[in-house]
Amino acid sequence: MNPNEPILIIEDDEAIAKILMISLQEFGYKTRHAPDLATARREILTHNPLLMILDLGLPDGDGKTLITKVRKQSQTPILVLSARNDEKEIIVSLDLGADDYIIKPFSTSELQARIRSMLRRTYADSTHEVLTCHALQMNLTKREVLREGVLLKLTPTEYNLLYYLMKNANRVLPYKQILKEVWGVGYQHEMQYLRTYINSLRKKIEINSTRPHYITTESSIGYRFLCHNTASKEHQ
Ligand code: CA
Repeated sequence: MNPNEPILIIEDDEAIAKILMISLQEFGYKTRHAPDLATARREILTHNPLLMILDLGLPDGDGKTLITKVRKQSQTPILVLSARNDEKEIIVSLDLGADDYIIKPFSTSELQARIRSMLRRTYADSTHEVLTCHALQMNLTKREVLREGVLLKLTPTEYNLLYYLMKNANRVLPYKQILKEVWGVGYQHEMQYLRTYINSLRKKIEINSTRPHYITTESSIGYRFLCHNTASKEHQ
């Protein structure tokens, strides 16, 4: 699973699409939006989505036709999102190859939980994408970080920051570069964000956050994630 691949939201209701995008981005997922089937087909070809959230009632046709088409080519997980509280529609969708469904209105935390479980089911068996450094282990499929086997509670931003640091282990990373890569273009000067998040991350991953082992400060330049004996590696 490539965490840079987007979740494709196929939904003609702009308000719902927006809620979905915001809540998914909050959890660190990239998102793309298609308001109709034609756009969805183009997006699938050009962006290779990680997962699709599919509304059934779309302006240029029934979303179910897309399920059939996608299943002929890939195992990309499909979550059907439907306003129709219609058992038949759901059963047909699942029979055509959808992986799960959710009825509007939905709770975003339930949606998140379903997405995590779909991603686990689809990608866990085929890939083992884990970054390891000493006692720290980051599972990219589950978006989980363990220290000595114990699950750490990281916020989405802390996770994204740690991912960037671990991916570039042992390299000096300038402040501006980290801000640009983790927060985005336009945040290069938000030094206070970075300091705050580095502090909170250290409290969670370091044994002693005042004498950090992993995230070291490169005075007036940036930070460096130290990983000496075990090279940080990504298994595909
Ligand atoms: Ca609709």
